Amino acid sequence: MSYSNYRAEFIKMMLAEGMNQWQAERLLYYSTRLDRLATAMCNGDYPCDNGQRKTKQCSKCDMGYAPESLNKYGVCPECRSQYNVEQILGGVGSGFEAIFSGDPRGCVLKIKVPSGRTNDWGREGICVPSSFNP
Ligand SMILES: [Zn+2]
Repeated sequence: MSYSNYRAEFIKMMLAEGMNQWQAERLLYYSTRLDRLATAMCNGDYPCDNGQRKTKQCSKCDMGYAPESLNKYGVCPECRSQYNVEQILGGVGSGFEAIFSGDPRGCVLKIKVPSGRTNDWGREGICVPSSFNP
């Protein structure tokens, strides 16, 4: 299946759980962003630490990032994306929960939904597709 099929299927499932279109699309956006960052972390690509680049520790997760990628509170792009996902889910209502994974080979973002439906191997939640394809 192509990304656009996975995307359409994800949106359909989220709408059935009570989420709106905008919320589902924002989760897709952040999944792609988190996937790209997890891959950068593994490969030492910008803005992550590669042992040579000048880095500064994130004030939240302590991982090293290029200083200019941290916000004014010293928080890295990954922590900011995770925070934004939590905010979206908080706005949807109870029964939704984010499951983050830093492993770009799998699903970096899954959503636990009120119905308990899952589509991942671990039966934890619904995988949020990512369009990042290095
Ligand atoms: Zn961080």
